[in-house]
Amino acid sequence: MKLATYSVDGKEQLGVVVGDGVVSIAKHLPDAPRTMIELVQNWSQYAGPVGELQGRAADVDLDAVRLCAPVPRPGKVLAIGLNYKDHIAETGMETPDQQTWFAKMPTSVAGPYDAIELPAVSDDLDYEAELVMVIGKRARNVPRDRAHEVIFGFCTGNDVSVRDWQLRVSQWIVGKSFDTHAPFGPWITTSDETDGSDLGIRCLVNGEVRQSSNTRHLLFDCLAQIEMLSQAMTLEPGDVIFTGTPGGVGMGSKPPAYLKAGDVVRVEIDTLGHIENRVVPGSTTTIIE
Ligand code: MG
Repeated sequence: MKLATYSVDGKEQLGVVVGDGVVSIAKHLPDAPRTMIELVQNWSQYAGPVGELQGRAADVDLDAVRLCAPVPRPGKVLAIGLNYKDHIAETGMETPDQQTWFAKMPTSVAGPYDAIELPAVSDDLDYEAELVMVIGKRARNVPRDRAHEVIFGFCTGNDVSVRDWQLRVSQWIVGKSFDTHAPFGPWITTSDETDGSDLGIRCLVNGEVRQSSNTRHLLFDCLAQIEMLSQAMTLEPGDVIFTGTPGGVGMGSKPPAYLKAGDVVRVEIDTLGHIENRVVPGSTTTIIE
């Protein structure tokens, strides 16, 4: 099943993607939750009725809606670094024997076709094509052999990175958390359709293939990631996990091939769909509200 958060005339709602259109959950199931996090929390109750909506005709064409990030404001956005061998090689770093985690702030989330900002304070804007997991259960101390129970579904994402801000310090969180720098979507493909473990993944900049790999090359796979994270923290429905990027990022080119205003970055993963984001100059407006 493919579950989307979308808006028509500025009003966000949930839908089931069927072909080139969307079936509105609110229209056909008026008592169903109105946000993705609440729907995931109550999935045992709604999986059946929402699944039946796949048999309906679409209420609206995908072309006529704005697709939002499937979880517009996750409680957590976690991301693992250095998780494909060819990417580790291009960074010149050592292959880690421990999982290397950082966070992207929830305010960095953007929709699958939203603009991404070239910061006014940096020219070192980079892309990272990534498989994204969405957590489905409240979970703690999950052993590897049960970790699949915790995954609600998968999305396509871009762990957009501001390299100078990331790498001038030992802690990556700020360089990874600029506004608009966690676009993902275009919808959640539920984990009954894929386990995410053998999917082609690509990034194209202005139509040129920059990254091309397969999720089977993850150093620490999705199950290992859940096992480790849940030893430290409670994972909650709607939490989002970026699972690492393969080789071919802009930083790895000589000279570096960073993104410029006007570039179009497309990330695609087999069966999960693609996201496509245009780079625009970042805002310098002071906001104090
Ligand atoms: Mg990354």
